[in-house]
Amino acid sequence: MTFTYTNPATPTPNPALISDQARIDFWARQARDRLTWGRPFSDRKAHSFSKPQSLGTDEQGIENFTVPEIKWFEDGTLNVAYNCLDRHVEAGRGDKVALYFEGEPGDRQTITYAQLLRRVAQAAHGLEKLGVTKGDRVVIYLPVIPETIIFTLACARIGAIHSLVFGGFSAEALRFRVEDTGAKVLVTTDGQNRRGKVVPVKAIADEACSGENQIEHVIVVDRTSTSAQERAAVPWTQGRDIWYQDLIEGLPESHDYQLFEAETPLFIIYTSGTTGKPKGLVHTSAGYLTQTAYTHALLFDLLPEFEDETGARRVDELASVNDLAKVEGTVHWCTADLAWVTAHTYEIYGPLLNGVSQVIYEGTPNTPSFERHFEIIERYGVTNYYTAPTLIRSLMGAFPQGPEPGKFDLSSVRLLGSVGESINPEAWRWLRTHVGGGSASFIDTWWQSETGSAVCSPRPHDAQFAPAGTFPEGTPHTTPKPGCANRPIPGVSVRVVDEAGQPVAPGVQGFIVVDKIGPSMARTVWGNPARYLDSYWRHYGERGWFLAGDGAKLDEEGSVYILGRIDDVINISGHRLSTIEIESALVTHEAVVEAGVCPVEDDLTGHQAVAYVTLSEAGRALSADELRAVLTEHVRREIGPIAKPKDVVAVADIPKTRSGKITRRLLGQLYQGQELGDCSSLQNEEALGAIARVLAGR
Ligand code: ATP
Ligand code: MG
Repeated sequence: MTFTYTNPATPTPNPALISDQARIDFWARQARDRLTWGRPFSDRKAHSFSKPQSLGTDEQGIENFTVPEIKWFEDGTLNVAYNCLDRHVEAGRGDKVALYFEGEPGDRQTITYAQLLRRVAQAAHGLEKLGVTKGDRVVIYLPVIPETIIFTLACARIGAIHSLVFGGFSAEALRFRVEDTGAKVLVTTDGQNRRGKVVPVKAIADEACSGENQIEHVIVVDRTSTSAQERAAVPWTQGRDIWYQDLIEGLPESHDYQLFEAETPLFIIYTSGTTGKPKGLVHTSAGYLTQTAYTHALLFDLLPEFEDETGARRVDELASVNDLAKVEGTVHWCTADLAWVTAHTYEIYGPLLNGVSQVIYEGTPNTPSFERHFEIIERYGVTNYYTAPTLIRSLMGAFPQGPEPGKFDLSSVRLLGSVGESINPEAWRWLRTHVGGGSASFIDTWWQSETGSAVCSPRPHDAQFAPAGTFPEGTPHTTPKPGCANRPIPGVSVRVVDEAGQPVAPGVQGFIVVDKIGPSMARTVWGNPARYLDSYWRHYGERGWFLAGDGAKLDEEGSVYILGRIDDVINISGHRLSTIEIESALVTHEAVVEAGVCPVEDDLTGHQAVAYVTLSEAGRALSADELRAVLTEHVRREIGPIAKPKDVVAVADIPKTRSGKITRRLLGQLYQGQELGDCSSLQNEEALGAIARVLAGR
């Protein structure tokens, strides 16, 4: 498909949506058009937001506030699973592929919407048989397999609250989530395929359920046992545990759904824990689905195009319905683990609500080799490839010049996306050149577990992705801006402000706040409303701005650049520097594959930066002293003398959360020999010990 790129029909800020009423009307229209309702909601109840109210100041001089309450489409009812599945089947699209599943060992399944619906129906009956009802919590501790999506939707179908936990988590991390949610049922597997090996999982699940909890049943999906003997060897608690196959045996393949109120909790998602103990954010049904369906259509290029008077094709960002022609031409692939919020929104709910076909892949990108993703793109004709900066950097490390020329046909790719961390311009260019054929659109989506779906992002139809010369000079959003989250989506507004809430000048780092929220905002922290207030709303008090916790700056055109977490800012002699900027500079050097920079205390300057790097072949050829010399000089040249790292530590692996985020907090603690905080979210905990050994051996 060829695109004619045009000036976006609605430059931001979108004047049509400046007033609160217009914004609410916009979302109400999206909700009505994109979702199928049981009882429609009324205009009067489309939205309410009780902002934090001051309760006065206590003896310590601390001002207290009420906990804000957010509601969207409150008096409407719907069924979430019906919206993801049944309605597509009823509309005659049951044979459309919902999932192309590829397992790590190479097993494959193609599952249509009609087949997925039947499997969800059976699983819903299965959960009901175990006594699960509306409001009960179900923890889903599974890898990326169809059953994960099946149980997620089965919970949604019966009004139970799902909480997905990354399959690679330890017993401790799982225990915390099982206990914190008070779950009644846990769904797990016998084992998992991980980097070419089968690893047992059930014993970990058992350990996680060994303390004080509410678990009544553990459902076990057979993923790795190949014989009756192997199944018999899986640790088992009689009466509590049940094989998935036994649970659904003989259950009907259709299930009458119930309607639930719009604000019925849908899931609890734990933040990745980069900054501390994970928070269990609660998302509810209709509001979450509305912004999810809309942003999935807007950002993954499903919105209808029209021809303007000059014959050029345009996209109307405020359009309500999907153009099925575009849905037909799309093969979506979001590479995130299903337990991460990215996958909830753009791998489970968004694609299914919009009826597209998508790939889900169980394994790691380097099994059996780093070419796995290229193979998958080619095999399924992936059009939209949505992934994380860390993954892009590792592909870039493995293939600095891109995949072997002519070996893979990646020509289906027309849209690239990244999320989870700021993407450095090098990685942006590498991916667009070598996977996106030099011309794919690139959405850098900024959002969080808290916001539920995308808040800021370039649009796939922006002028910056058009061939040079397509647009007259001065057209908005013309300049390519690698690593820029660009501007808010319609119906949401953000500001970049200082401590006191005053706007900062272009180029100056401030805090990003969402001053007008969309319907997918998290409603509370599970079991801890005070933490919801304290973490996100207290800072700007009665203004009712959501403090995202990230630093950001605006450029002269008003485009938003995300500079990482506020906690990751380094204050050197009064200059505020973002660790991400220093990392971005480091990875432009040929010696470096990946960099993690953290602040450490310094008597003289307040703080100094310390850089941890993983090395390319060129880097490994250097001695430690040479490496330090070339890299500090490189940062000096790229950013300035103030940013020069005080130390450079070469390591084999940088500790990351399951969602691929560098835990700079732990890097700092390691360097300063401090006690390490919460490590339960790490995907590679062994990296900590390895770094400690490197530091001790110097
Ligand atoms: P915790 O809140 O427990 O520390 P977390 O913030 O890592 O965990 P998530 O909600 O999964 O948990 O991640 C959201 C964060 O990821 C954002 O606040 C931001 O720091 C970062 N992020 C996401 N997308 C982008 C992006 N496109 N550019 C820059 N940073 C991003
Ligand atoms: Mg966060």
